[in-house]
Amino acid sequence: MKEKPDIIVVGGGPCGSYSAYTAAKLGAEVTVCEEHEEIGAPKHCAGHLNVSSLERLGIRVPLAAIENEIKGAVFCSPSGKEFVLRCRAPVTYVVNRELFDKHLADLAVKSGVHYRLKSRVKSLFFDSGSVKGVALKGEERLEANVVIDAEGCSSALLKKTGLKGLESSMIVRGIQAEVDGAEDVDDDMVEVYFGKNVAPGFFAWIIPRKDGSAKVGLATRVGNPRDYLRRFMEKHPVASKKLKKSRTTYTSLHPIPLEGPLPKTYSGGFLAVGDAASQVKPTTGGGVIFGLTCARVAGAVAYEAVKRQDFSEAFLSSYQSRWKRLVGFDLDAILRMRRMLDSLSDSRIDGMIDLCRKLGVDSVLEKVGDLDFQGRTLIPMIKYPGTLAVISYFLFSWLTSTTKN
Ligand SMILES: Cc1cc2nc3c(=O)[nH]c(=O)nc-3n(C[C@H](O)[C@H](O)[C@H](O)COP(=O)(O)OP(=O)(O)OC[C@H]3O[C@@H](n4cnc5c(N)ncnc54)[C@H](O)[C@@H]3O)c2cc1C
Repeated sequence: MKEKPDIIVVGGGPCGSYSAYTAAKLGAEVTVCEEHEEIGAPKHCAGHLNVSSLERLGIRVPLAAIENEIKGAVFCSPSGKEFVLRCRAPVTYVVNRELFDKHLADLAVKSGVHYRLKSRVKSLFFDSGSVKGVALKGEERLEANVVIDAEGCSSALLKKTGLKGLESSMIVRGIQAEVDGAEDVDDDMVEVYFGKNVAPGFFAWIIPRKDGSAKVGLATRVGNPRDYLRRFMEKHPVASKKLKKSRTTYTSLHPIPLEGPLPKTYSGGFLAVGDAASQVKPTTGGGVIFGLTCARVAGAVAYEAVKRQDFSEAFLSSYQSRWKRLVGFDLDAILRMRRMLDSLSDSRIDGMIDLCRKLGVDSVLEKVGDLDFQGRTLIPMIKYPGTLAVISYFLFSWLTSTTKN
């Protein structure tokens, strides 16, 4: 290994490891600095991932990391109306994020990536305005030609480059409990609960695992997520009946960036990826698939910069144009959907869920829906009268709510 790596990746989460893996596989010398002593821990994520998106990325999840295979979802409206979307074959995996993250790190190590655990990056250092390396806790400095910031939902490093980082208004607070003893939950369906009193600005979920346990969580824009989760589990008219005998074995709290990607994700010698760049779907808070999609681009662009010995902002700007080509349209469209959803009253959400059920929208979604690329899914959906009616109702509700406000 060279004394000075070509690329330093900050953060050994999925996006850090996958960008490191991509760059190393192409031929770069890569070091990942991870603050914790173990990859994947502490875990905070539901790990609900679209099977076809993982296939598109070429990621084969090891069997041991697959906690369940899911065929669809039950959407529960604020007043308790249900819309069930069930596909014939499994469409998503529930993965164990600890094992999933370790798998991606293993792939990286096998491609030559060097991991430094218990290595918290405190700061960046610069030469002529370009990032030239990282400063670790304890004053050690590591030089590199490109730093990939995959530190998750923090922006501490990103802001040091002068780029716009995440603000608290862009974040919802997530909480998840792992529970034993949930009852009456189909073992191949996730449950999604809406309501301003349930999870303001987001939703709550119950995700079953094959072993009978479940992940129960929510995120909220306001208030204390612990209070909302307690109320959901103990008082929600539908969910509390399923969870009354449950026992919580693990709880985690973690922020989710929900306002679409940051406007600029590169500067001289520097790229930001994953949650650090807010490459997260604003409707569901899912950040793994789009983050990995962008991480692959970040790894490739960083490698190309090393090959050409061009670490300039101008060259690294190709990262932004390339990831935007892959997921930019969907992220923009999804952000609009999230803003429209946020403006709807509970009774309008009730009406929408009712319409979806009555008009048989499930069969259309099974045919043309995509859990990740939700923006482009809207285009073929317009052809079907049922979904067109739901979209029209959604737009009408949004228009009337914005003109009232
Ligand atoms: C409750 C909840 C449920 C979720 N469920 C889903 C889901 O079902 N599906 C989905 O797709 N997404 C989900 N997400 C989002 C998903 O977890 C994130 O989008 C994803 O983890 C982002 O990956 P990342 O690699 O960018 O960041 P992270 O996974 O946060 O990894 C960042 C890594 O960087 C390390 N780090 C941070 N700062 C430093 C530093 N200064 N020096 C060294 N190391 C550092 C951290 O320790 C961590 O290991 C959920 C999030 C929450 C909160």
